[in-house]
Amino acid sequence: MVGIQSASQVTSWLVAGQTLFLTLHLLGVACFAYIMAKRLVPLLRAERDLRFDRPWLRLGRVLKFWLGQWKHPRYRAAGTLHIFIFACFLLLAIRAFSVLIVGVSENFVMPGLSGRAGPLYDIVTDYAATIVFLCMVIAVIRRLVFKPARYAVPAQYGKAHRADAIFLLSLIAVLMLADSLFAAARAAAPSQPGHSVEGLAVLSLPWLLKSALALASLPALGRLYFGAYLVHELTFYFLLCYRPFGIQFHVEISLFNIYFAKLDREILKPVRWGVSDEHLDQVKSFGVKTFEDFTWKHMLDFYSCADCGRCSDNCPANAVGRPLSPRFLTIKARDYSFQHYPVLGKSNNGTPLIGGKDSGSIYSEDEIWSCTTCGACEEECPLLVEYIDKIVDLRRGMIDDGNVPQSLQKPLKALESRGNPYGKMEKKKGDWANAKEFQQTCPVKTIGANHLANNGPNNGADTLYFVDSITSFDDRMQSIGRATAKILSHVGENFGILGAAERDSGHEVRRFGEETLFMALRDHNVDAIRASGVRRIVTADPHAYNALKHDYKDVPPVEHISQVIAREVKAGKIKFNPIENPDRVYAYHDPCYLGRHNQIYDDPRDVLDAIPGLKRVEMTRSRDRSFCCGGGGLMLFYEPKEDQRMGVKRVQMAAEAGANVMVTACPFCMVNIEDAIKVAGLEGKMTAIDLAELVDQQIAREIPRSKQEATEIKEWGPLRPTDSIEVGTKSHSRR
Ligand code: SF4
Ligand code: SF4
Repeated sequence: MVGIQSASQVTSWLVAGQTLFLTLHLLGVACFAYIMAKRLVPLLRAERDLRFDRPWLRLGRVLKFWLGQWKHPRYRAAGTLHIFIFACFLLLAIRAFSVLIVGVSENFVMPGLSGRAGPLYDIVTDYAATIVFLCMVIAVIRRLVFKPARYAVPAQYGKAHRADAIFLLSLIAVLMLADSLFAAARAAAPSQPGHSVEGLAVLSLPWLLKSALALASLPALGRLYFGAYLVHELTFYFLLCYRPFGIQFHVEISLFNIYFAKLDREILKPVRWGVSDEHLDQVKSFGVKTFEDFTWKHMLDFYSCADCGRCSDNCPANAVGRPLSPRFLTIKARDYSFQHYPVLGKSNNGTPLIGGKDSGSIYSEDEIWSCTTCGACEEECPLLVEYIDKIVDLRRGMIDDGNVPQSLQKPLKALESRGNPYGKMEKKKGDWANAKEFQQTCPVKTIGANHLANNGPNNGADTLYFVDSITSFDDRMQSIGRATAKILSHVGENFGILGAAERDSGHEVRRFGEETLFMALRDHNVDAIRASGVRRIVTADPHAYNALKHDYKDVPPVEHISQVIAREVKAGKIKFNPIENPDRVYAYHDPCYLGRHNQIYDDPRDVLDAIPGLKRVEMTRSRDRSFCCGGGGLMLFYEPKEDQRMGVKRVQMAAEAGANVMVTACPFCMVNIEDAIKVAGLEGKMTAIDLAELVDQQIAREIPRSKQEATEIKEWGPLRPTDSIEVGTKSHSRR
């Protein structure tokens, strides 16, 4: 060390620098290790979670989502700021460790940095420290002055975290300032006569500080150097030990959280990892009731959350004023964990998580029922925090305790006894297809159990059209069923339906938390499908599609009708008549279970773009940022507390985009969007149509179109207004 004494050589308060810093290191590391050990305690008591498979795939995701910061640019300003900070932190990590060691070993140089690489690395890190310092200042100003809405903490979710965030940001700024100051003091010292000059990056923070210190005496520089070094050390260890108490714990945890993140996002978590369906009856209690019922990975999620608010910013339930904000599901659980597993003192646990506030619980029933399982929160989270599995697990716990919302009791009973939530007779399931007039235009085979008995295996059908309950029984949605059947018939598909042998797919039932009922529905359908001998399945219902594809096993491959149409359009089997009304502007609404959950974004758009003369606009929130219509997770039967309906918000988005026709590809979306058009007062200005209906309308058939359309509109008009239907205890009159 030239010019001034190294920190390890300085004796202060009668203690040699080397001893002082060695003691500080030991205390800091011991304190951090103790806190981390305490933070691990609840994870060790948690439920198991199998996350040790496919290590290479997991490492690849660490490179993409952690090192590559893949999701951050989705929020341009904050994301760019974070990428800069993260990259600079990585660069500064080696410098930070070198600096720590220099306190006990003055000539220490990090391996690899002793030659030419050393000065180059110093220059780069001078700039990195400057960038981090500036980013911290910007971040503090952002929080103090601009106050982004997504950081706010509504009163019902607790106290604001702004002071904590600003305190932590300021500490990092202090760390960078201290680092730059002792580098500047050290570099300023050689500029005294007779000493060599140490280079600093031009216009960096250390360079500017060095310029400011040009006239300082050597003893003053020595004191400054030692003081800055001491502040750096203290701030470093304080940050290290303070972060596990709050929102910056993600700095330590995020890498692990991303490594262990769910690989098959579309597959719902089993009731208990490692317990097969056959052995579920041996499980004493289903779902999550107390904190310790969460899996260790879900607890790691709680620790990892950066409190950035992106999940809630995209949550449709939160947007319409339902009592649910995914961010606070996590924050409340983390607070619970810190409170019940304190760093000092004994842990106490076992409190129910759901109930009244007085009971010490943290969630309300409405909060947990308010989720549509749309997946927007998970799509957005940069740290891959999971929500749907946790919410479904909490619901499983409530169902296990017999805690079922009143409005859902009737449809659940009907599903149990009749296999559909409407309580309709099984034999009526195929009525929509068996009406005489429709059979004359489009014969639909029934390959259900009765037919199998009477007519032998598979009744000659290669493809099963799995209709599901809503399309089978809702008068309005039957139009989607008929359109789908006509399209399949048009492309020469040899298809049939199961009719009375088909039960509800159970998709919503499972997401509602009724695993046993789901299993019964699934097993029945799997048997019927396998007995039918079909080689593939097509459905026009994304919920059924998702269930058949991910919740069922040992069934033939399944496609959504939009995939079939897109393929047949490309193959030239489907050709379209042009759109005749030039005033129609179409916007496609991505159903959550087609888009986000199965990444089918392009096929429906390709189909629309293949229709001559069709004008299409995109809503701001589309594709993986699509805004849920409000229909998922048995929501058609549940009346949540909300300020506005999700569907209403969605149709307003379509109107803002300049559309007057909303196209969707899901019967649940159709229910909500048609209702919403009325509620939003857009009747006469906007209509909704299913992709299958639109395709069926526009297909160029051999018979003259005008004649065909006249028949369609008279008999099976796709946009025919329908009567209200009774759904469980809730009337869906398309309010
Ligand atoms: S799944 Fe959708 S509704 Fe549920 S918490 Fe996430 S964003 Fe909100
Ligand atoms: S869960 Fe993810 S998106 Fe939500 S606040 Fe935490 S880090 Fe941000």
